Amino acid sequence: MKKEPFVTNEKLQEIASQYPTPFHLYDEKGIRENMEALKEAFAWNPGFREYFAVKANPNPNLIKILGEYGCGCDCSSLTELMLSKAMGFDGAKIMFSSNATPAEEYQYAREIGAIINLDDITHIDFLEEVTGSIPKTISCRYNPGGLFKISNDIMDNPGDAKYGMTTEQLFEAFKTLKEKGAEEFGIHAFLASNTVTNEYYPMLAKVLFEVAVKLQKETGAKIKFINLSGGIGIPYRPDQEPNDIRVIGAGVKKVYDEVLGAAGMGDVAIYTELGRFMMGPYGCLVTKAIHEKHTHKEYIGCDACAVNLMRPAMYGAYHHITVMGKENQPCDHMYDVTGSLCENNDKFAIDRMLPKIDRGDLLVIHDTGAHGYSMGYNYNGKLKSAEILLKTDGSFELIRRAETPKDYFATLDGFEEYKKMGF
Ligand SMILES: *Cc1c(COP(=O)(O)O)cnc(C)c1O
Repeated sequence: MKKEPFVTNEKLQEIASQYPTPFHLYDEKGIRENMEALKEAFAWNPGFREYFAVKANPNPNLIKILGEYGCGCDCSSLTELMLSKAMGFDGAKIMFSSNATPAEEYQYAREIGAIINLDDITHIDFLEEVTGSIPKTISCRYNPGGLFKISNDIMDNPGDAKYGMTTEQLFEAFKTLKEKGAEEFGIHAFLASNTVTNEYYPMLAKVLFEVAVKLQKETGAKIKFINLSGGIGIPYRPDQEPNDIRVIGAGVKKVYDEVLGAAGMGDVAIYTELGRFMMGPYGCLVTKAIHEKHTHKEYIGCDACAVNLMRPAMYGAYHHITVMGKENQPCDHMYDVTGSLCENNDKFAIDRMLPKIDRGDLLVIHDTGAHGYSMGYNYNGKLKSAEILLKTDGSFELIRRAETPKDYFATLDGFEEYKKMGF
């Protein structure tokens, strides 16, 4: 599929004339349409709820849009919990799926009534010790181990992942939690990441539904929800076929009827904790080509760097690039598109065929709406960029300002000299 930016060149030039590059730009229309499709796909399940994985994009202006459709928040840390609470989400709409959890995070999660998803069996005692009790509603994260395969394709390697409890521990945990006063249970698993296939959720659902039937039978625990978590991917590459969320929803319904329905458990709610799928395609990083360099290779130097988008440097991840205004020119130049960090892996693309790039060209780096801005950091003293929302009516709004040097120095209490520098 041809990958095209969600913003026209004309509109982007208008935005860039008002806000300096680099910045992340988000597409309200795309976010809404995708959200509506997800709701429709799971409308057959009355208890369905998406808990948006806040870590993918913790901008309250964007989360608010999802909140309009009844979404909750999936949090992994204290500040994410605080953000969700500050936005007005009530406890039932906040899922806390953490691991290696500090005591104060469990304490705060309990204080705001978030649903706690335990990563490990030892966290039962830890939670009781640090919060004084076990909540009435509780969830456990499951890791069946081994390899997760679809047909003969290995999707991921849960046996090598640090998350979740073994099958034996899960049964043990349910029994212990029940003894300690828990009344309603959830089961959660995240077995493969960024899956670009309609089969992942139905396969995962089958594993979880089957274990749920056994758990309810053997432990008498009342299963309230099954959380399919994240993992639905997006087509970062132009040759990938996007997932069809309606097909995925129908696939989950089929196993739901076959396994849970047949066992008289047709009242179990389905939860999801999607991050990438909700936001990934609806964000892009806009950067300007500020240098060209001809040495052993051809380089284009940008005003963005891995601080703005870490995935290529961290995972070697592919992000499609469009040179704005040159969409119809032949891709007859091979470039490494780089940032300015003193790190040779600070490259948005390596040996990428693109149209001839001139200084001043705007580059759109696609699919940065999830795990883009949020993975940013301050290496080399680089500052994090602004975030801008392109609204449904074509207007645009700054939804996070760019960092300034003052922000960078702000945590150095006692170092006052920087205030004399005139910024
Ligand atoms: C990261 C994460 C998600 C979101 O994953 P995506 O691949 O972005 O959908 C959901 N739940 C948990 C517990 C996570 O760690």
